[in-house]
Amino acid sequence: MNTQQIMTTGEEFFLHTYNRFPVVLDHGEGVRLFDTDGKSYLDFFAGIAVSALGYGHPAYTKALQEQAEKLIHVSNLFYNEPAVKAAEKLCRLSGMEKVFFCNSGTEAIEGVMKTALKYAYTRDGRTGHEIIAMKHSFHGRSLGALSVTGNDHYQEPFRPLISGIRFADYNDLESVKALINENTCAIILEPVQGEGGIFEATEEFMTGIRALCDEKDILMICDEIQCGMGRTGYMFACEKYGVKPDVMAVAKALGGGLPIGAFLTNEKAAALVPGDHGSTYGGNPFACAAACAVMDAFEKENLAENAAKVGAYMYEKLEALKEKYGVITAHRGIGLIQGLEFSVPVSDIINRALKAGLIIISAEGNVIRFVPPLIVTEADIDEMISILAEAIEG
Ligand SMILES: *Cc1c(COP(=O)(O)O)cnc(C)c1O
Repeated sequence: MNTQQIMTTGEEFFLHTYNRFPVVLDHGEGVRLFDTDGKSYLDFFAGIAVSALGYGHPAYTKALQEQAEKLIHVSNLFYNEPAVKAAEKLCRLSGMEKVFFCNSGTEAIEGVMKTALKYAYTRDGRTGHEIIAMKHSFHGRSLGALSVTGNDHYQEPFRPLISGIRFADYNDLESVKALINENTCAIILEPVQGEGGIFEATEEFMTGIRALCDEKDILMICDEIQCGMGRTGYMFACEKYGVKPDVMAVAKALGGGLPIGAFLTNEKAAALVPGDHGSTYGGNPFACAAACAVMDAFEKENLAENAAKVGAYMYEKLEALKEKYGVITAHRGIGLIQGLEFSVPVSDIINRALKAGLIIISAEGNVIRFVPPLIVTEADIDEMISILAEAIEG
């Protein structure tokens, strides 16, 4: 199929849930992607903060090849070594104690919600519990995850969703306190809101929520799906605050591109028992071999440190753009998860950048989001900034 045929056939058969860019991506190398016409793109999107190792990473590719030849899938009714190793590594890296593997972020959120409800059911010997979530949050598209996603536009056609979800204002501890009652079982938040427009939690908010949860025996749930796995310069974003959640959701970069998600709990929150939860694919050896290779690369290549260092460089450069161009009204974020807010819609800028060979993407509220592979260098940042500046000028 030629490029045009691929796009036309795709439009004919795909359910139209995405407005795709008119580009067919074909292969990748490092931080670059190439389309079917051989055009090269500098990738500051990483398939939505997924491809932390970039493309064609030798050790990662080798690990997948070896595992593919050995064993792709077995059920959770048996042990397999890659899953055990991935579990041990992920618990070590996160400081959490128990892990459940699933296949996506939204599934990890289903798991954390069930964990919270089961914890409270055991604690109180009754049902009818409530979860507090944040406005402008994003936790996924399944009906459970959508229920805690603070976005009217995403929720509207699917109401009523799960009952007992209340929304507080992000970074406003009083608004959280006002929603707590005897039914509250958990507070869920992203330490850095990604889809919502790159908003970082304040230290006061994170430590305040931790204290509230301790005081009221409520579970603190951190959604680290986008901001975790080294992206902020910390292995997990909550480390920056010195805060340990009771439950954590991870996905996106965990598999380096293979579909895998996970939720982690401490001993106290390990409430789910046989019969409560499961997954056919979750924890299969192929996806877990990918996760192991990703976590090994993080250690060998100090990717979180690189995110901190190159992220600080990107911060300076984006800050300089903000000084230069009046249409940029705000700059937020940390490490390799940053955003620029514009006073105008950003789609024209994104399209011009794409034409010039740079992949960037929007977030809620006229924001351009920068979430490149964690292997980016300062030279890549310079190149990105120069293409972006031209795209802003038009
Ligand atoms: C992407 C994302 C999800 C959902 O993950 P999927 O793998 O798309 O289901 C949940 N929470 C956050 C913070 C995300 O960025």
